[in-house]
Amino acid sequence: MLRQRTLKSITRAVGVGLHSGQKVELTLRPAPPDTGIVFRRVDLPQPVDIPVNSQSVADTRMATTIAPGGDPGAPKVQTIEHLMSACCGLGLDNLVVDITADEVPILDGSSASFVYLLQSAGIELQDAPKRFLRVKRPVEFRRGEGASLSWCRLEPYHGFKLTFEIEFNHPAVDATGQQVSFDMGSGRYKRDIARARTFGFTKDVEMMRSRGLSLGGSMDNAIVVDDSRVLNSDGLRYDDEFVKHKILDAIGDLFSVGHPLLASYTAYKSGHAMNNQLLRVLLDDPLNYDYVTFDDESLAPAGFAELAPAW
Ligand SMILES: [Zn+2]
Repeated sequence: MLRQRTLKSITRAVGVGLHSGQKVELTLRPAPPDTGIVFRRVDLPQPVDIPVNSQSVADTRMATTIAPGGDPGAPKVQTIEHLMSACCGLGLDNLVVDITADEVPILDGSSASFVYLLQSAGIELQDAPKRFLRVKRPVEFRRGEGASLSWCRLEPYHGFKLTFEIEFNHPAVDATGQQVSFDMGSGRYKRDIARARTFGFTKDVEMMRSRGLSLGGSMDNAIVVDDSRVLNSDGLRYDDEFVKHKILDAIGDLFSVGHPLLASYTAYKSGHAMNNQLLRVLLDDPLNYDYVTFDDESLAPAGFAELAPAW
């Protein structure tokens, strides 16, 4: 049987939120089968649990924000996508994340630090079958026309594969790889995707700060680009780090559906909001998907049984 996975032990991280600039502490705890990923705001007088699922996504401007039932007035947790991406990349199903503020720390701007933390805590195989959400029919979400066209699409696939293309019309970004394909079954998430950092443009910083966004952003946790070049003195971690970060984000955004997907995802200039809209289109019609488990591991997509134990 392909089993669910949780952590072997408790692990902690301290950092600042990218948008809030607030100091925050995370405690990642093992959780029983079928818990999913649950954030717990432990700084409130009464702790509030926010399970990550398609209903809990409350805001997708700049980052993915969740709240109980998606209620924007309820206690929230912002910027969950990099931690969610690490969980998906390592095949983790169940985790309780105690958090002392309303934003996940940005750490180094990628998911590599989360991967390291989760790996250090170790993995536990659980006595319950891992449940996948299998895409059965193609679904698509499109926005704009001509030069402003962007779209994302899910199609049936025995595994989880992502292809992303960006087009920023910016010299420093256009000089790097614009399209990347990544197959989760390759077992290369940690090496090929996890280190890609979030990025920002200096021309946007003043506008974002005036709106109370990106207050914790710096060259320690983001690639910073001015009108022509990358300002970080040590340059890029991958030749195509920008588009790889978009893949990292999409993995985290899609995992917010509450289960790992069996699907092929293709996107052109998509982002958090569109990825969430795509999940809504998918879930809108029960004929689009079903849930599957693998009693016989050999029938699971290639590489999936090894995802986490390969540590
Ligand atoms: Zn990101």
